[in-house]
Amino acid sequence: MSREMNSMQRFEAALNHQTPDYAPISLFGGIFETHFVPGMDVIKYGSSGLNMAKAHIAFHEAIGTDTIYCLSDMGIIAQGYGTRMQLPTAPDIWMGLGKFPIKSPADWENLDVLDPRIDGRMRLYLDACTIVRDKYGDTVPIGVSLMSPITSATHICPMEDVMVHMITEPAALKKGLVSLTGTVTAFVNECVANGASFIGYLTTRASKEITTIDQYREFGAPSDEEVFRKTPSAAHIPHICGVEPMFELVDEWRSKYNNVKAISWWSQGATPNLKDAKAKWPKLTLMSGIDHTNTLITGSPADVDKEIAQSCHEAMHGGGLILAPGCEVSPKTPWDNMRAAVKAARKHGKY
Ligand SMILES: [Zn+2]
Repeated sequence: MSREMNSMQRFEAALNHQTPDYAPISLFGGIFETHFVPGMDVIKYGSSGLNMAKAHIAFHEAIGTDTIYCLSDMGIIAQGYGTRMQLPTAPDIWMGLGKFPIKSPADWENLDVLDPRIDGRMRLYLDACTIVRDKYGDTVPIGVSLMSPITSATHICPMEDVMVHMITEPAALKKGLVSLTGTVTAFVNECVANGASFIGYLTTRASKEITTIDQYREFGAPSDEEVFRKTPSAAHIPHICGVEPMFELVDEWRSKYNNVKAISWWSQGATPNLKDAKAKWPKLTLMSGIDHTNTLITGSPADVDKEIAQSCHEAMHGGGLILAPGCEVSPKTPWDNMRAAVKAARKHGKY
């Protein structure tokens, strides 16, 4: 393919399993991005959509990835339900989740559907998307990293209690999940209306070291599928950064819902690895191939180049590869390694 595409065209081609000019590269900056704006910190970033957008734009201009990705702490939805936040314990750490509002199983039955325009800190994404979209128009895809209903449940109630309620109080938990599903659906649709091109759908509990597939099918998947059905204009990329993500489930969603496009996981640390995923799930677009826990932090630019060459070799044939880390990059990542990743994607990812 000779015609040069812009980042949006490149990303959309890969998402739809067609052949772009180059395999696109998406680097989830998160806290790392705050380093590109003088005076910015986690609190300022996490309390203003304008600050978030400033960090996204500065990072994008400096590193040149194919996506802009709104990524925040885990309180962005949960705070709207009353989860208290904790100050970061050190610089370059997200605000943490403090006290949870769900104290007993009966509390699940009293959850409301929230309005993303006014509740919690969901508004930040809407504002950030609008500002970034105004600047780049349709040339750069904007992603939002957004928690699924079951993931959100573990941000308003301790995860161990959610696991217990699956066994002891399934009806109450399911009632709470219906409300959370309403909130997540509304949030996704508002993000799309404000310019988001894809949803990094954090369904991180769909990993077999956390739930069994039967448990996930009973408690997680019904809400996920409801979200997919009610957000027809979104492009979902389920993100599962555990060690045994449920690929079979995501591939099932891809075949059932045409807005479920890809899977994002940690190909160097989880099962399957990139090569096996490409062989076993050939129709699913794969978003991975860069090790954010080792190569990106402690490797040299030459190591990053080598890893991306290998990932392209293993998974770009036939389309359907988006080069990306397995999760948010560390704030300690050397800038040169990030630049080397983008350079390597253009060098080795050419179709
Ligand atoms: Zn993750």
